Amino acid sequence: MGVDAKMFVRIRGRDNWLRKEDELSTSYDLSSTIGCDKFLITKGSEFKRSQHHDLEIMQPIKDDSDASDRGLDRSLVGRVVWTQDGDPIIADSDEQFIRVHLSTRYYGEEYARGDWPTIRLVSEWLDMRFPKGEVWYGGDSSGICAENLTSARRDEINRFFLREGRKSYTRYGDNGTHGVTGHGAPTCPICEVRTLGSGGSKDKAFWYCDGCGRKAVTSGLAAPPPGGIATLSRRRSRNRRSPRHWSLASGPAPGPPQTDAAGARSDQTMPLPRRQSRGCQ
Ligand SMILES: [Zn+2]
Repeated sequence: MGVDAKMFVRIRGRDNWLRKEDELSTSYDLSSTIGCDKFLITKGSEFKRSQHHDLEIMQPIKDDSDASDRGLDRSLVGRVVWTQDGDPIIADSDEQFIRVHLSTRYYGEEYARGDWPTIRLVSEWLDMRFPKGEVWYGGDSSGICAENLTSARRDEINRFFLREGRKSYTRYGDNGTHGVTGHGAPTCPICEVRTLGSGGSKDKAFWYCDGCGRKAVTSGLAAPPPGGIATLSRRRSRNRRSPRHWSLASGPAPGPPQTDAAGARSDQTMPLPRRQSRGCQ
């Protein structure tokens, strides 16, 4: 589970509202500019209950059942309401809410995970398209509620992103050891940094490098002994598609875990570059 990015525009004054007949063309302009893969677009899909393009004019709560489904009091039937993991935001009578369906995790100082460059660009596009509106941005859970993404606030998050990137998320709790298998994290032969764990099972660990995108799998029932040091070595593989793979060798213990060359997909192995074989840290 993660925190998804949520965004909407608040527009006061009916004269400034997005007209229903312009909703689709505005949606097209947005996704064709930023990139349709950056949005969750269900229009024309099998999701019959909620068919929407990248943005939609939010509709009032229909009836008691609708209010109940959203965890709202029935007194809010007929009102436009933004629900979140916190107090709902209720539109005034002259206020229009336009929901934007981003397809990324939230990004902020407390949760530096999502695609901030896209989030920032979308908010800038919305600012330009709806000069009388306010862009609000938050998450869908963990108490990350929507805030007015003013240009000052956007600059603040942007500076944080340029300085810190996603490290506070990707390296959170990272001690170089897989939590279940006990395997040591291999070092990426390209970037020469410790790879990041990305899941696994009791005898298999997945790794990836956020610098170049390379992936690796280490496997073996026995965890390396305390203080055991993982090393990289070259070995021939029977897998013709990936002639070289990482081989994880523990310290003094016999029967070291090894990379899963046969069982792993080719994109889960991390071939060594030619003429390179580096020891781990
Ligand atoms: Zn790398």
